[in-house]
Order: sequence, then C-alpha cells, then structure tokens
Amino acid sequence: MPSAYDPDPAALSALLAGEPAYRVRQLDEGLWRQLRRPIELTVLPKALRDRLEAALPPALRVVTESVCDAGRTTKWVFALHDDATIETVAMAYRDRVTVCISSQAGCAMGCTFCATGQAGFRRHLAAAELIEQVVAAARSVEPRRVSNVVFMGMGEPLANYDATIATLRALNERVGISARHLTVSTVGVAPAIERLAIDAPTVTLAVSLHAANDALRDTLVPLNRTYPLERLETACHQWNASTGRRMSFEWALIDGVNDRLRDADELAAIARRVRAHVNLIPLNPTPGYPTRGTPREGVERFRDALESHGVNATIRATRGREIDAACGQLAAVAGGKVPRRSRVGVEVSPVRGR
Ligand code: SF4
Repeated sequence: MPSAYDPDPAALSALLAGEPAYRVRQLDEGLWRQLRRPIELTVLPKALRDRLEAALPPALRVVTESVCDAGRTTKWVFALHDDATIETVAMAYRDRVTVCISSQAGCAMGCTFCATGQAGFRRHLAAAELIEQVVAAARSVEPRRVSNVVFMGMGEPLANYDATIATLRALNERVGISARHLTVSTVGVAPAIERLAIDAPTVTLAVSLHAANDALRDTLVPLNRTYPLERLETACHQWNASTGRRMSFEWALIDGVNDRLRDADELAAIARRVRAHVNLIPLNPTPGYPTRGTPREGVERFRDALESHGVNATIRATRGREIDAACGQLAAVAGGKVPRRSRVGVEVSPVRGR
C-alpha cells in the first residue's frame, strides 16, 4: 500500500514526477514536519492536493478512541488496510508527551502474563504503519509536540527488525524526535540487540526481563528457551560496549511469582553486571493470567532490596488501566476483530509485559 509516511523519500518523489523540484520539498515538509494530510497542504495547487490525497490514503482507521486519567491518556484501536487491528497510546505529562506504538498485529512471543501474547500473532507492521501511529497521536495532542516514543505496544519490535530500524531513523531524521527519546523494548532477542547496537546506537534500550533465573523465565517469557539469560547477558554487554549507553531492565512484579527477596537478589546480580537501571511495574490484570500484581508495599520492599545491592530502581506509575491501556493489557488484535481488552501503556515499561 502506498503511504504518505513511506520512509523511502523516493516514493514521494515518484508521485511528483513532472512537478517542479520544490514541490517535493513542500510535500515533505508538510507531511513530516507539519504532520498534515496532503489535502491540508494549501501551499500545493488544489488539483495536486486531490491527487496526492487519493494516492496516499491513511494507513490507519480509528476503530475506537478511549480517554482516561483526566484526559491525559488516550488509547486508540486502529484498523489497518487488511482489517488487522493494533493499539496505540498517548500519555501527556507536565514536561513531555510519550506515545507507545505497536510494532506487530499481535505477537508470537507468547509471554504468559501479556494480553497480546495471549491473543496470538497476525502479521508484522510496515514501517509506515508504525510511523503513522506517531503522526496520529501527534496530531491529537497539538499544540503540544510528541517528545518520546516507546516501542512497547503490541508485538516484539526486534522481531520486526527492518521496519523498526526504518521507523527509528524516520522519527529522528524526518519528524525531529531525539534518538535518545526513542525507546526500543524487547523481551530479549539477543542477536537483534547486538545488531541494534550497530544500527541505532543512540536510541534507548529497555529489556523486559521479569525473571533472573532460567527456570522461572522459561515459564514467563518462552523466548528464554531460545535465548537464555547467559546469552541475553552477552548481548547486553555487547550493547554496553558498542554504545556506552545504560539500558533499563523492565520488571513486571507478579504477586508471589517474581517479587520475593531472592528474586531481587538474582535481579540485582545481573543488573549490576550489565549496569542496568531497573523499572518496576506492578503487573496489570489480563483475562488469561489471573495472578495479580504485587501490592504497593511489596513493590517498595522489592525496590529497597535492589537499592541495598546498589542497583538504581524506579517504580513506574501506570497509566490507562481503566481503558485497558496499561502495561500488559493491550491486545486488540489477532483475528482482525476488535477485542475487549488490550495492552500497553507505561512510560518506559509497558508490559507487553514489558
Ligand atoms: S510481552 Fe511483548 S513480546 Fe511478550 S507476548 Fe506480550 S507483546 Fe509479545
């Protein structure tokens, strides 16, 4: 499908064959900097606007829009051209606006506590479909600007590697979002972390760990059977060596499962070895995983245990719980149907479990 946000500039140039060269610049500026639809670009002749609007239909169609947190959190269910559905969340804070985007329709990783994982995989998204999520959210929060984008919605972005890299570059170079404010979250696709360290060394990396011994992690994050902790840690060291940037570990605290003191001890050991900051997120409820999140006092005890080992840890406030936009709750998807529950939505940690 042709898209206004195809990251390849040649795609727009081809549409403007025969037009003066400055029309390419006007179109590029209007789409990527002003975030306008072709039909809204009054700097272009009306006939050209009409032609471009017809040639570049929106990649996303709003199915539902839900608002909570006193208007500061918005979740959209978007339908794609093939009726696959995805979810996107915008979270406005005093000093920033963060958008959480989906990288796949559904997810094949099967993390047991995650609503997306429970729903299964439909397909990878194209880069334009990732970018248009940011554009749609950015238009909704105007006149504020989107300052941060987190790849913590539905799907594993490093399993859709090429589209993720193209999106990171486009958001940085063409939309103008700082690379450090682009956060890629992964459950641990170790070889792709090593590639990312080469291809996008200035972005931020968040590894959704959730367990720091293989026996437990195998049950929560099935990908651990392919890339167990020792292999994942090698990739984390590689990231550090190549980028010099500190990563974060995301840890969805599950009552009685991974919130014991020995879990904190194990996590602290690996976090210290790779110099990771830890973000703690009480697990959000999903229909397929009835275990509840750790109560507040348990979360604080866990954080204190990490800090007693010299590990920096932050308790993340969740957003969007009441509209199923919180971490681990995004699940629109998988059969092209609009489901009842969905996931994502913490600042630097959704859970897709993340
Ligand atoms: S936590 Fe992330 S990787 Fe795991 S199933 Fe959910 S969306 Fe997929």
